[in-house]
Amino acid sequence: MRWLCLIFLFGLSAVASAQSDFEVRLGANLIEVEARGLPAGKLPREAEAIAGDHLHYRIWLCPVFPVQVLTPRGWLPAQAGPYRLHIQCQAGVNFVTSLTTGSQNTLLINQDQLAQRPLFAFGRLAVRQHHFQGGSLTEAYVPGALKLSDGQLTRWVQATGEGVADFFGRFPVDQAVLLITPLSSGSIQGVTFGQGDPYIRVQIPSRFSPAEIAGSWQLCHEMVHLAVPDMPYAHHWLEEGIATYVEPLIRLKMGDIRAQRVWLDLLEGLPKGIADVEAAGLDGDHRWGATYWGGALFCLLVDVRLRAESHNQHTLQEALRGVVARGNISQSWTLSDFLDIADEAVHSQVLHQVHEELERRAPINLDQLWGQLGVASSPRNPRFTAAPLDFVRRGITPEF
Ligand SMILES: [Zn+2]
Repeated sequence: MRWLCLIFLFGLSAVASAQSDFEVRLGANLIEVEARGLPAGKLPREAEAIAGDHLHYRIWLCPVFPVQVLTPRGWLPAQAGPYRLHIQCQAGVNFVTSLTTGSQNTLLINQDQLAQRPLFAFGRLAVRQHHFQGGSLTEAYVPGALKLSDGQLTRWVQATGEGVADFFGRFPVDQAVLLITPLSSGSIQGVTFGQGDPYIRVQIPSRFSPAEIAGSWQLCHEMVHLAVPDMPYAHHWLEEGIATYVEPLIRLKMGDIRAQRVWLDLLEGLPKGIADVEAAGLDGDHRWGATYWGGALFCLLVDVRLRAESHNQHTLQEALRGVVARGNISQSWTLSDFLDIADEAVHSQVLHQVHEELERRAPINLDQLWGQLGVASSPRNPRFTAAPLDFVRRGITPEF
């Protein structure tokens, strides 16, 4: 029995460590995969066999799209061991991936990475590098697909990354990928993925004017997500709340918006989360209002209390810089990890306290808060007045 177990374990480790070499050829609307050392076996869905004596197949893709976005799990055959991919592109075709293991056109993928669904996109792409303090970003885009010129696009990405790096003291991750693709209609869409090697996808309507894109908040919002470690589902409000609260502060510093706009958005937005948070707390309500605006309320209350107690010496920004010094979206943290590290950075218990208060579901008096901060709400035009905590308001939104 003991020998059987040893043989069984040895057999498993031998299978787990077996690595296979795959030749991958990318065309505008096809992907071809060949592994000479492997039997034909079971092919991925929609694959068409090319040779019968070894693994060799082709997958045809929709020719309408300028870019094909396919996670490797969708087009590689299932196997126990790691994959080594040797990538070749047809003329005019380029690829980008969030995988950072390997070199140039050779990628190494193990089973854990495969399960994390890394980005793999190819097609009529141009790729360029952005460097910021503390990290870099690989931008991939479709040349000429937007009203924005390539120069305007790269300046927008560079300026936003610099704004984010300036706020957090460094770009939040060592390396990330940004894939920008055109949309036929609608508004700008963004999403950030962080388990494993981080990447951002932004889709921009091709008819958008340069001014509309330059004035949009989505790219900055997604880049802020890079700074926040991955949270359990119950605490998703922290990820979205920080992105919602911090993005306008960065864009204020960048000169894209004015302080009035920051307070107007808070005046209009925060009430959308109040009822949900009062009813179920932050951790118990996963609806949109509590997630985005409940989370932003948490950030504002923390920022106000830290600044009020220290006369602007300690801030939420300082707490978040402490978080970024220890982690980012590539790691999974608990809420306690986050609150401990953020509080430690500002020598306080304020983050823990505000979280506990909101979880107690006491009534939230926003009008009282606006009065203390000297924010007088008039229809679509907040005015600032003298108030006990007006120095806090000016600290949060200085006019540059
Ligand atoms: Zn978000």
